[in-house]
Amino acid sequence: MKRILVTGGAGFIGSHLCERLLNEGNEVICLDNYFTGHKSNIAHLLDNAYFELVRHDVTHPFFIEVDEIYNLACPASPIHYQYNPIKTIKTSVMGAINMLGLAKRVNAKILQASTSEVYGDPAIHPQPESYWGNVNPIGPRSCYDEGKRCAESLFINYYHQNNVRIKIIRIFNTYGPRMNANDGRVVSNFIVQALNNEDITIYGDGKQTRSFQYVDDLIEGMIRMMRTDNSFIGPVNIGNPGEFTMLELAKKIIDLTGSKSNIIHLPLPQDDPMQRQPIIELAKEKLNNWEPRVILNEGLIKTIEYFKNHL
Ligand code: NAD
Ligand code: UDP
Repeated sequence: MKRILVTGGAGFIGSHLCERLLNEGNEVICLDNYFTGHKSNIAHLLDNAYFELVRHDVTHPFFIEVDEIYNLACPASPIHYQYNPIKTIKTSVMGAINMLGLAKRVNAKILQASTSEVYGDPAIHPQPESYWGNVNPIGPRSCYDEGKRCAESLFINYYHQNNVRIKIIRIFNTYGPRMNANDGRVVSNFIVQALNNEDITIYGDGKQTRSFQYVDDLIEGMIRMMRTDNSFIGPVNIGNPGEFTMLELAKKIIDLTGSKSNIIHLPLPQDDPMQRQPIIELAKEKLNNWEPRVILNEGLIKTIEYFKNHL
């Protein structure tokens, strides 16, 4: 049994990770300040004697004896990370410093939930880990993108300078049950709109693409990454290479829900990336043949079911 800290554990991805780690017989400490996370996401775990919940903000130091740390604390949806951009930068940067300091002190392995956003609006398609990205450092997404890029830099330097055992994964758009209904990301927005027979809001012409990964595939990749030996630190892309336009996604969701919704077009937000698709050869090679198993239709059906019961 390992003792494992999950920061951002009450969020969408964090709650699935806490659940999986507990099911595998570990002791899990879930740390969250509930900015975008909810107790309801982890309420079903509270009866487990090996699960602990801590209300804490990662911008402040935190002391605990643990074997592993998964650092997920950070709002992930553009609406939420742009709400208080300075706080978003502090969460990424000071959160990384505090968690890396903790890992150093107690000799824990630490995994950073980085993002495909480090590639910005990519000039290379699809994206390999070796691509340095195309991020606007003063645009509305920079608080998130540059915060996450700085966190990667902190991780790599704690590795070189202090021998901290680090792992960096770059997560591509992930969806599934327990996404926030009002979180503004495209999959939850379209499903909620479709279930309510409201207009489906496509930003721009809808020809921009994203590659959508079901949450269970991500959790499997994260856990495999944490288990790799010390010679592999990443960064490694974890995503599903299936690439879809937002128009295709909207039509799929209308079909799967049997909705009467119409599609409408709203202005494209500034610096919205035009395309996104991971190259996952490194993950396959290093993570024991890891690859996504859940195709978009199957994952959407499970997510629609969740929202039907939770709206
Ligand atoms: P989420 O918003 O559901 O979860 C983030 C969690 O972090 C929430 O529970 C929130 O309350 C908590 N949090 C935020 N600021 C905090 C702070 N200062 N101190 C403590 N807790 C704080 O988002 P998610 O989709 O579950 O994302 C989890 C992680 O994965 C994030 O780091 C995000 O950047 C990364 N990621 C997610 C995606 C995706 O598609 N979902 C893609 C790339 C990277
Ligand atoms: N998007 C959209 N309608 C919405 C929400 C998002 O067309 O109601 C678009 C958005 O402009 C972007 C894509 O969907 O091109 C993915 O957006 P999301 O916020 O989910 O993720 P990110 O842009 O961070 O990849």
